[in-house]
Amino acid sequence: MYRARVGPNRWKFLLESQSCLSERLTELNPRQKLNVVREAPASVIPKLVRKWKVDVLVFEKDTDAYAKSRDEEVRRAVEGLGLGVKVVVCAIGRTLYDPDELVRCNGGRPTMNMSQTVKASALIDPGDGGKKGEPRRCMPTPVTLPGPLGAEEMDLSGDPEFRHEVPEPAPDFNQEHRNGNEEGHYESIAGPRNDFAVVTLEEMGIDPKLAMSPHKGGEREALRLLKTYIDNEEYTGTFEKPKSSPADFGPQSTTLLSPHHHFGTLSVRKFWWDVQDVFEKRKKAGKQNAPPPANFPGQLLFRDMYFGAQAALGYAFAQTRGNKIARFIPWHLQSNHSDTPVGEHLLDGTYNVDDEQAEEYFRRWKEGRTGFPWIDALMRQLKYEGWMHHLGRHSVACFLTRGGCYVSWERGAEVFEEWLVDHETACNVGNWMWLSCTAFFSQFSRMYSPIAFGKKWDPDGHFIRHYVPELKSFDTKYIYEPHKAPIADQKRWGCQITGDGTEKGTKDMAKYPKPMFDFNEKRQSCLNKMKEAYDAHMYGDDKRVMSGEWKSMFNYVDGKTTMDETGELVSGTKKRMRTPDDHEYEDGQHADVGDQIEEEPRRKAAKTNGTAKSSKGAQTKLDAMVTRSKKT
Ligand SMILES: Cc1cc2nc3c(=O)[nH]c(=O)nc-3n(C[C@H](O)[C@H](O)[C@H](O)COP(=O)(O)OP(=O)(O)OC[C@H]3O[C@@H](n4cnc5c(N)ncnc54)[C@H](O)[C@@H]3O)c2cc1C
Repeated sequence: MYRARVGPNRWKFLLESQSCLSERLTELNPRQKLNVVREAPASVIPKLVRKWKVDVLVFEKDTDAYAKSRDEEVRRAVEGLGLGVKVVVCAIGRTLYDPDELVRCNGGRPTMNMSQTVKASALIDPGDGGKKGEPRRCMPTPVTLPGPLGAEEMDLSGDPEFRHEVPEPAPDFNQEHRNGNEEGHYESIAGPRNDFAVVTLEEMGIDPKLAMSPHKGGEREALRLLKTYIDNEEYTGTFEKPKSSPADFGPQSTTLLSPHHHFGTLSVRKFWWDVQDVFEKRKKAGKQNAPPPANFPGQLLFRDMYFGAQAALGYAFAQTRGNKIARFIPWHLQSNHSDTPVGEHLLDGTYNVDDEQAEEYFRRWKEGRTGFPWIDALMRQLKYEGWMHHLGRHSVACFLTRGGCYVSWERGAEVFEEWLVDHETACNVGNWMWLSCTAFFSQFSRMYSPIAFGKKWDPDGHFIRHYVPELKSFDTKYIYEPHKAPIADQKRWGCQITGDGTEKGTKDMAKYPKPMFDFNEKRQSCLNKMKEAYDAHMYGDDKRVMSGEWKSMFNYVDGKTTMDETGELVSGTKKRMRTPDDHEYEDGQHADVGDQIEEEPRRKAAKTNGTAKSSKGAQTKLDAMVTRSKKT
């Protein structure tokens, strides 16, 4: 509740998912439901193990850095009880392959491109009688469920041990979403009615009106969505990500299954195998299927690639400092770090405001008031609905980092972490590093124009008119650059282009800001800076990065870094809490949506030394794998 950035929409999605799971359990056994306990796992699980005389504790394997340390803590605490409880960690459920296995089969290294991912996955035995290299098949849905413990055992009221151990609330990354009314709802670990019910937004102190996303959580919804795609064989068989429009909404052009993959309301392996069934059927009918990696199986493999990279690197994966795969670029607004007892330097949730102008750009980007309607429409879609198309994410991520604002990718990743309903650390961080040319991708001269890219997909600006309604009456000629419209026309169309987006308009005359900078100028300056950073050839684990020596190399003007005890901005200090067109990449797409992947320079060096094999073979294997027929 406090330390992970989660906005109201993702809370809503999670609670809907839990409620649906609870209903599904009740369908199996009318006396059963999901029992939710309200306390940190490492403190509550040992207490319950003792109270309920648990002899086997089972949980799913999770390779996220935080999850690994959490699970280890739980295991130690339960084993420390000395009751002989068997702790069983069962197979991975969130990815196609076990990320640790991917890393092992990749020679212990992070999976940095599709070739490595495919090659490594080809060596993994699913262990269920399936073919080597194939993702494991899903287990059948249970048809029975034992009854719950008796009412007396389940009654924890009156036992002082089960009063909620309240965690230290500061720093609270989600403070701005809460109204302070959560008090009282967390006194008992079984909830205010002592019934282990799913928590409500109100109990968390979140106004449900803030959770506006139309995207609904729960297995029922996930299976309904999946069925619409699988029934539509033409869509599933021919889907190619680069051909799907970032400007489509209601409905969007891609599946929107990502939050379900994250929360486990739809297994990625079920999606994979259902798609393989469609491919097979079409093949038998003589129909062509879309090629990888732009097709659905290819997209799922990108997801596994990021999980593999994360599993190899642990906490360092999600930050630049100490991260051996992250190219060091002296962005504005870099993260501050704390030293841990084991010598790691982890993000501490604050960042250094070395440049007020960059801070202003960041705020305006986050709030959807940059004055570039395409960017603002996308950011508002993210804020209100919690989701954005992949190419929209490309546009706004490039714009914030190497293609406009020159702000650290870590700031952008934090905003996505807060607002996405599908936030998944491995994918979010991995894609932000990709887009900012920090890792995975390095062609920094390929930028997204905030004007031409959107125009290509949506020349009439329907997407902008929907998400930036101030501009809904503007003539198509000006919808991507409204500041160019004559003043008289602006008045006629009911919106004045002025200010920085903070001034309120009237009912008859709205206000929308002018562009916050000249994109062409910024583009050139970003290119120069990126070149300088690339020429320095430093990575996050470089000793010059760790020592701060890099600042003199890049003539970087540091900000002061004092902060008050609440972690809030102190006036006069520089440490903050949370809080053209012809240069567009030819077809507006990056390699992860279908092009050949550019290898990292470190890998290229290895290749010339003869230690890395050609990626061609692996690409062929991927082709074979994603079009492979389902084993019957
Ligand atoms: C800056 C940035 C941040 C991102 N953050 C996240 C994130 O936090 N969580 C997340 O799941 N995805 C993230 N993505 C990847 C991608 O944008 C989303 O997975 C995709 O848009 C989800 O929509 P969909 O389910 O309709 O995808 P579809 O196109 O229908 O693809 C099917 C599935 O493949 C997976 N997938 C597709 N593309 C990618 C990709 N590039 N990386 C990883 N998995 C992929 C998803 O699970 C998705 O549901 C991010 C991309 C960018 C550029």
